[in-house]
Amino acid sequence: MKPTGFVKKIDEMGRIVIPKSVRQTINAGIGDNLQFFIDGDSIVMKKFSNACLFCGSENNLTEIHEKYICANCISLFKKD
Ligand SMILES: [Zn+2]
Repeated sequence: MKPTGFVKKIDEMGRIVIPKSVRQTINAGIGDNLQFFIDGDSIVMKKFSNACLFCGSENNLTEIHEKYICANCISLFKKD
C-alpha cells in the first residue's frame, strides 16, 4: 500500500473526510459508492464498480436480477 500522508480524525458520528486529492486518485466523485475491505487491522476503500458475482471480474458483465456475471463465468454454466 502507498501512504497518502493524510491523517484524519473520526468525528462523533463516525465520519471522516476523504481528501480531494485521494478521491481524484481513484476517480471517485460525489455520489459514487465506495466499498470497504478489511485487511488485518486496516480498512481499504475502493471505488465500487459492478463485478462478477463469481470471480470478481469487471469485464464483459451481464446483469441478471440486479447481480452481475461475466462472460467467462456464463460460459462455465453453458452445456456443451
Ligand atoms: Zn466471472
